[in-house]
Amino acid sequence: MTHAAVAKARKLGPVFAARARKWDVERTYCWDNIADLVDAGIMGMTIPEELGGLGASYLNVTEVIEEIAKVCTLTARVVVEANMGGISAVMAYGTEAQKAFCAPIVLAGDKPAICITEPNAGSAATEMQTTAQRRGGTYVINGTKHWITGGGVSKLHLIFARVLDDDGSGLGIGGFIVHVDPLAGIEPKGFSVLGRERTMGLCGMPEATLKFEDLVVDAAMALIPPSGFKRGFADLMNAYNSQRVGAGTIAMGVAAGAFEHAKRYLTERQQFGRPLAEFQGLQWMVADMDTQLHAARLMLHEAARSRGPNNSQFPDMTMAARAKLFASEMAIKVVSDSLQMFGARGYGDQEPLERMYRDVRMFTIGGGTGQVLRTQIAGSVLGIKTPQARDGYARAATKSKEVKS
Ligand code: FAD
Repeated sequence: MTHAAVAKARKLGPVFAARARKWDVERTYCWDNIADLVDAGIMGMTIPEELGGLGASYLNVTEVIEEIAKVCTLTARVVVEANMGGISAVMAYGTEAQKAFCAPIVLAGDKPAICITEPNAGSAATEMQTTAQRRGGTYVINGTKHWITGGGVSKLHLIFARVLDDDGSGLGIGGFIVHVDPLAGIEPKGFSVLGRERTMGLCGMPEATLKFEDLVVDAAMALIPPSGFKRGFADLMNAYNSQRVGAGTIAMGVAAGAFEHAKRYLTERQQFGRPLAEFQGLQWMVADMDTQLHAARLMLHEAARSRGPNNSQFPDMTMAARAKLFASEMAIKVVSDSLQMFGARGYGDQEPLERMYRDVRMFTIGGGTGQVLRTQIAGSVLGIKTPQARDGYARAATKSKEVKS
């Protein structure tokens, strides 16, 4: 099954490579590729078979992501979000009705949007201000999210908000499934896309600001992990560990694709009467690039196979953080060195290297910055809590007393 999916991804490679420049230059979403992904069964591979997916493992998916990322970073991002992150959270914690509702939408080509980040809550995600106020059988959501990947093209949204009970008391941070599909006339009142960022890379993917004004969501669409709202945010964020493995795999795949271009060029281009490949200064770069790529792939596969504590269905947090950190930083260097090997030609747009260089820069920022991942890894290695707010240690102590009592 895995090999069939990887073979299909490889077959689509030249088609996606030929279209990649178009999405970048025109800043348009890769709709043509989505149709191909649906035909190939690559959207929603991780959805269980009984719901129409393949029940594929995260490791299976990473192999597919790498192949696609080699040729089109944008499309690889779609594959990650159609198999990991939001949809994984629904499949792990959703009610049967929620799973049955979401699965066909993703299988038909949707890339769900995860809505966490706010103008005043980036790395400090738990400081989000968006609220979901319980009102009878509904929740009423108010707030603004920005940098939401797919905002304006995604149909499914997993919106994170501070949950307030009927009486206004805080219950914790929860996720809410919101379906938007203007072409089918599904336009929830109070949900608006305010605009999109103009990004340096990944230009075909909308990164949008979403505003919620008294957006009414049926209580049946609240995604509540078994631990409830109070501790549920940690469970929901665990689902994000799969997305981190996916994001790291894209970065590694882009680097692998750039490296393939560079290896070819080193044998084609001659200077001083010899192919570039014969210069030791470049050979040592090749050796370093190959070694770094190999290490990143091993770490990502290890993380994809791992499972966090307490029977988690998701990759181990530290392994996922470590793999994404290493892969994202490695990829920037490997893509840059690949571009370097092309000389001026790499800097121009007749080769895809300049696009890959712009695309790959994102992966040390989105989905947990390099600094935040280092903090997580250090906390885990040292076995200590690492609160970052000024009064963080005091707050952590109060919280732990509350939990004990
Ligand atoms: P800030 O948190 O303001 O950080 C600024 C700088 O300070 C960074 O270098 C950071 O590492 C550093 N920093 C912050 N805190 C610390 C600390 N404690 N110690 C050391 N350094 C620190 N969000 C979503 O919810 N959904 C999405 O779909 C989504 N997609 C994205 C797509 C792209 C292309 C990008 C760029 C971002 C996306 N994001 C998304 C947002 C992303 O998750 C945030 O950008 C990220 O969490 C960082 O937040 P920030 O940009 O506000 O930076």
